[in-house]
Amino acid sequence: MGKLNFKYDVVIIGGGPVGIYTSIKLAKEGLRVLVIEEDAQIGKPRFCTGLISRESFERFSLPKEAIEKEFNCASVFSPLGSKASLKSKSIQAYVTDRTKFDFSLYNMAKEAGVEFFLSCHCRGLKVYSDRVEAAVSYDQGDTTVRSEAAVLSTGIKYNLHRSLGFSVPGNFLDCSQVQLAGESGSEIEIFLGNSIAPHSFGWVVPLEKKRLRVGISTRKNSPVFLRSFLKHLKLKDSITLGRYFTDIMRRPIPLEPIKQTYADRMLVVGDAAGQVKPTTGGGIYFGLLCADLAAQTLAKAFKKGDFSGKFLSHYETNWKKQIEFDLTMSIYLRKLIARFNDEQIEELVKFISQDNVQQLMEKYADFNHHGRFIKELIKMPLFWKHLYHMVNVK
Ligand SMILES: Cc1cc2nc3c(=O)[nH]c(=O)nc-3n(C[C@H](O)[C@H](O)[C@H](O)COP(=O)(O)OP(=O)(O)OC[C@H]3O[C@@H](n4cnc5c(N)ncnc54)[C@H](O)[C@@H]3O)c2cc1C
Repeated sequence: MGKLNFKYDVVIIGGGPVGIYTSIKLAKEGLRVLVIEEDAQIGKPRFCTGLISRESFERFSLPKEAIEKEFNCASVFSPLGSKASLKSKSIQAYVTDRTKFDFSLYNMAKEAGVEFFLSCHCRGLKVYSDRVEAAVSYDQGDTTVRSEAAVLSTGIKYNLHRSLGFSVPGNFLDCSQVQLAGESGSEIEIFLGNSIAPHSFGWVVPLEKKRLRVGISTRKNSPVFLRSFLKHLKLKDSITLGRYFTDIMRRPIPLEPIKQTYADRMLVVGDAAGQVKPTTGGGIYFGLLCADLAAQTLAKAFKKGDFSGKFLSHYETNWKKQIEFDLTMSIYLRKLIARFNDEQIEELVKFISQDNVQQLMEKYADFNHHGRFIKELIKMPLFWKHLYHMVNVK
């Protein structure tokens, strides 16, 4: 690479799916784009269950070679024994191999003309009136990359945020996951309960060739909760568990967006912006949706020659129009359920399994946008009757 100064239209810091997708969209607008990624290989290491809705594949024309299996149903288990099905025509998702998924996006980006600096860490960004400068370290030294604009898609690494005046998400889940040999039912299984996953849930996702992805999200100590969740699952007749194929992998998930996602010559997208579904912690759909909008705003900025924060604020207005309602409703629901004790969770699961709630789900539930279903749910007098009962269960 040498001690050269490089010049691009847009520099993207972070080669996760959201950064790479942004780069593809920008390259297709005819812009010269560089992605700087500190890992040596795209897609490795990846800490993700890989559930991505069918809608995402259609909407964003995603590569399909990473798909491992399709699901249209999930079961939710209360710690006290009740079970409810989450089934809907629109709840259709694929479980993917995230390493392959990211790598396929990388190939698409290279075909579109995007350049990559791998094994390169961005140490800092400086925004001037006429350019952005990224200070980059790589195995043979340091260099500077200049561009008209930059995109922060650093995932859950927020080191650059503060120096650029961006806030960081105020709320996180602590997640751990392992892939192991084993068999369960044909559906995704979600386990609730304060001794299993306080404030959140555990999951079992069956894969082909007798493999499972098992994970836990909690407020803290997720590896400890994952080990005890695995012991809990071993006692179940419906699940068999064998040897581990991976170590237990741990990573936080942001649950709330950062305060502002634009500045002069800068946009923030994906986990770096906290654009994650607060109900499940899934970040790929919202991240790609926002990446699309970020690329559209930047393409317009190039046409107008206006990289001011004021102009780039259109990005935030646009993503908020599309997902703010879902975020608000989901944060509300998560906060409500996080307070429930096991008896209240049992009531909740019984409530979900009722016919009229199942019909509501069939009509309004959407794998990606949860706001509409939550809104319809809280319009039901039955919900308030149950909620009253739930909060009064001791
Ligand atoms: C256990 C677990 C399970 C999950 N399951 C799902 C799921 O089933 N479905 C779903 O939709 N989401 C899931 N998620 C969330 C999903 O993994 C993230 O939302 C998604 O990876 C975000 O993509 P991103 O591109 O924003 O960030 P990332 O994928 O984190 O990519 C950011 C990249 O930036 C690089 N980087 C950071 N700082 C620098 C720097 N200074 N210089 C250079 N490079 C840098 C990093 O190395 C990284 O490669 C899960 C998360 C966890 C923890």
